[in-house]
Order: sequence, then structure tokens, then C-alpha cells
Amino acid sequence: FLQINKLNKHFSTQAGTLVVLKDINMTIEQGELICAVGASGSGKSTLLRQIAGLDSPTSGEVRIDGKLITGPGPDRGMVFQHYTLYPWMNVQENTEFGLKLQGIPKKERREQASYFLSIVGLSRFSSSLPKELSGGMKQRVAIARALASQPKVLLMDEPFGALDIHTKESIHEFILDLWQRTKITIFMITHDVEEAVFLSNRIYALGARPGTVRKEMTINLPERSPMIKRHSTFHDY
Ligand code: ATP
Ligand code: MG
Repeated sequence: FLQINKLNKHFSTQAGTLVVLKDINMTIEQGELICAVGASGSGKSTLLRQIAGLDSPTSGEVRIDGKLITGPGPDRGMVFQHYTLYPWMNVQENTEFGLKLQGIPKKERREQASYFLSIVGLSRFSSSLPKELSGGMKQRVAIARALASQPKVLLMDEPFGALDIHTKESIHEFILDLWQRTKITIFMITHDVEEAVFLSNRIYALGARPGTVRKEMTINLPERSPMIKRHSTFHDY
């Protein structure tokens, strides 16, 4: 479904050429929830940016359903660590924003955004401003906004890094539930190995230390335990 072929990314810096991603080959299956882990500076965000089309590789390619990625597009929804919500727009307007950019008529984008706000359990907060929400709620709005344009894949860069442990745990349940209900493909970056083990069956690990050979590997985990509690819906709180 999503294929990364012989991808290299170098940056020219004051100190010379920095090789961040070297010969990355990876396939993400349709409907998979995969996490990437690695130390700070290992190139996780750089990898995600190449998939998002926010940056272009030095060489190699990214393909979705065989189609070459050359820039950002509505087939990829993005969520970042710091809820990049517009503070002057309410929850509904924030959720609709991407649809507006795509030129979708008002009535349709209202319906679509409302639907995804109900999916993340925030219908009651549609007229609230971001500053009136908790961190976890803001991140759910960011997820609703990313889902509103009905992407093929959700790309998340340390989406829960700024949340406290309690909020993180409840949003983990929420993500698993959302993933099961929507069958969307999710590629998520995290610093937190425990989070990656909890959420995914497959972990992509990037290794990097100056002066050592770069390593990339995937770790396949056994199927998730059926013990995990799942919400059938995520309630407003
Ligand atoms: P973190 O966990 O801290 O977010 P990361 O794994 O996401 O780290 P990246 O942000 O991908 O790391 O950065 C990887 C390396 O590439 C770093 O050494 C960084 O300094 C370098 N880098 C990233 N973007 C650029 C750029 N635009 N120009 C030069 N160097 C860059
Ligand atoms: Mg990063």
C-alpha cells in the first residue's frame, strides 16, 4: 500500500553533508497501525516529512497505491506533537479548515467535520475555542481535522508526547478503537517504546549514533492481547 524505496535524505550543513536517512526500504500494509521509534535525531520526523510530501528525498521514492508522492495531498492526514489548531477558530472551524482549502462546499464540509467530531467524541465542543480544551481534547480535534479529508493514511509525529500519562492511556484506547472502526492505515512516530508496543504489531526502529553504522529494522510483535479494553464509542467528557 505505502512503499518507500531506496530512500536517502541528506542535508547540507555548516559541518558538511549530514546523511540522515540511508537506503530506507519499507512497506506499510493497508490498514496497518505501525509505529516508528528511535532516539532524538535519528531521522523519524525527516522520514515522516518525506511521506507527507513536506520535503523531498535526496534520492529514492515514496509511493501510495503505486502513485509517486511529489508533495502534500489529501490522501495523507497529519497530526503533530503540538496541537497545531488555529487559536482564533472554534473546534468546528478548525476541523473544517482542510476541507475549505480543498474547495468543498460549506454544507458538505459542515456535515463531514461534524461526523468526524462525533467520531472523536467532541460534538458537544464544536463551538469551543482550543484554549478551552484540555491537551487530550485538542489532540482529538487535530485527529478529527486530519480524518475530515478522508485520507488513506494518518501520519502522526509524536502526537501524544505532550500529554500526561493518564490522558495518554485514555487516548491510546481511543486510537485503537478509532483504528478498528475506521480501518485506516496509521503510521505513528513516538519516543516511547512502551507506547509503540501497546499500539502496534510492528515497530520500525531507526538507530543512529554519530560514528556508527545506521541501522533500521522492523520488530514484529505477537497479536495484541484480547484483554485490552476497547470502547465502542468514545464519550464526551
Ligand atoms: P526528535 O526525536 O528529536 O524529534 P527525530 O528523530 O525526529 O528527532 P529529525 O528531526 O528527523 O530527528 O532530524 C534528524 C537529523 O536531521 C538531526 O540531526 C537534524 O539536525 C537533522 N535535520 C533535520 N532537518 C534538517 C534541516 N532542514 N537541515 C539540516 N539538518 C536537518
Ligand atoms: Mg522528530
